[in-house]
Amino acid sequence: MTQPQPPITHGRTPIHPNHRLGYERAEHLAALTTSIRTDWTEKGTITLIEPLNAYFTATDLAAALLLLAGNPKAETPKLLHHPGPHWAHLQTHTPTNDTDKRPSPPCPIPEHAQIGKLAVNCPACRKWQDFPPTITADVYQQLTPEVQHAIDRSPTTVVLD
Ligand SMILES: [Zn+2]
Repeated sequence: MTQPQPPITHGRTPIHPNHRLGYERAEHLAALTTSIRTDWTEKGTITLIEPLNAYFTATDLAAALLLLAGNPKAETPKLLHHPGPHWAHLQTHTPTNDTDKRPSPPCPIPEHAQIGKLAVNCPACRKWQDFPPTITADVYQQLTPEVQHAIDRSPTTVVLD
């Protein structure tokens, strides 16, 4: 059988053992997968998962296998070792890309950023209107006009120059 593409592990470095699937969970994953794809064997699936263990996180590997299982054209799980749509999620999950792919920077108001709120949809600004007593002009400038308007109307919040 010819292999038109290099294996999915090509050029990848092994990941930290803590993030790996491990044998026990590989067994669970294979059992789940073959309960969906009854034409695949559990043993064969484990054998295919194992060499990938060192290179992909448990979630990435599980997602790829289940996506592949959902592809009726995949007659065997062997395609797992090759690039394809079942590995598409890797593009957004590689650690080097994490900062680029964040949906939004934190809310400019430090009190909101501290509790993990994002600029794009901070509910403390938009819904709760829970503003601190003072906001610096610098922070104010970074807020959307909608949130600035809410602060302008707030009787308890002062914008400092
Ligand atoms: Zn906010």
